[in-house]
Amino acid sequence: MKNIAVIGSGTMGNGIAHVFAQNNHHVSLIDISTAALEKALATIEKNLDRQLIKGKIDEQTKTKTLENITAFSSLEEGLKDVGLVVEAATENVELKLKIFGQIDKACDESTVLATNTSSISITKIAAATKRPDKVIGMHFMNPVPVMKLVEVIRGYATSDEVTGQIMRLSEKLGKIPVEVNDYPGFVANRILMPMINEAVYTLFEGVAGVEQIDTVMKLGMAHPMGPLQLADFIGLDVCLSILKVLHEGFGDQKYAPCPLLVNMVVAGKLGIKSGEGFYDYSLGTKDLVIADNFRK
Ligand code: NAD
Repeated sequence: MKNIAVIGSGTMGNGIAHVFAQNNHHVSLIDISTAALEKALATIEKNLDRQLIKGKIDEQTKTKTLENITAFSSLEEGLKDVGLVVEAATENVELKLKIFGQIDKACDESTVLATNTSSISITKIAAATKRPDKVIGMHFMNPVPVMKLVEVIRGYATSDEVTGQIMRLSEKLGKIPVEVNDYPGFVANRILMPMINEAVYTLFEGVAGVEQIDTVMKLGMAHPMGPLQLADFIGLDVCLSILKVLHEGFGDQKYAPCPLLVNMVVAGKLGIKSGEGFYDYSLGTKDLVIADNFRK
């Protein structure tokens, strides 16, 4: 798995490419959008500079990491000679099924196909390929270069061998892998998303304001970020789509997305990535400014 491909160069894809490249893998970073690829390379360089300033890496590591990454806008070219593919494209089930059908055809039969999906069934994705034993969830956390956890999700047919390979590989990347089974939301989002949804309901029902809700959870539960700030960070569209998977997967009303969350996504208020969610990011992300809609 010296040569790997990362599909999707957005928030997660650029972080995943960064971590593999810094650990001496040759990375083909693939995206249908050349603008996304350019942005990803600039983000990786900026994040490497940050590591450099903090003394975590030296100049040589920065140069080598950047040299290890090649950008591709064509899937077939980027997939040549790779031992592992990590798919981190947009969270959309039809799109992922299509991508896995394509990569299954394009890659050598020994290549392991991993997905960074937050919530889509690994078993379903694996069924779009002829190698379900070699399909696995490799769920990195955001921001990838900083967060230690990799949730390793075994689909119904994922082999012990492939699970072992991905667990060991994650450790070599300096991460801590945790093996879980393939049920809606896996572990991380099954627990996190109902908390975020409940925070949105608490706001929706007027129990407390944005600042109060986040302060209670930060100071009372020692969370580094309040749930509403975290939702903005993850992306409200991503939170909504995960809640829909939980709601549909378990058929339980307790996962029904709060109407306020649905409205915000429809209105294009997606959090940091759109410049506004529960907070307003028009002046940046350093200082937390409550969005106009939620000011008393
Ligand atoms: P994003 O929207 O930032 O990036 C997705 C990228 O995929 C875009 O650049 C898009 O152009 C590209 N893409 C779309 N179709 C493609 C195709 N056919 N081929 C190649 N590239 C394609 O999304 P993200 O937040 O980076 O999420 C990516 C995946 O990671 C999703 O499955 C998401 O659930 C998961 N995830 C997200 C987070 C998070 O905090 N954002 C955390 C963990 C996991």
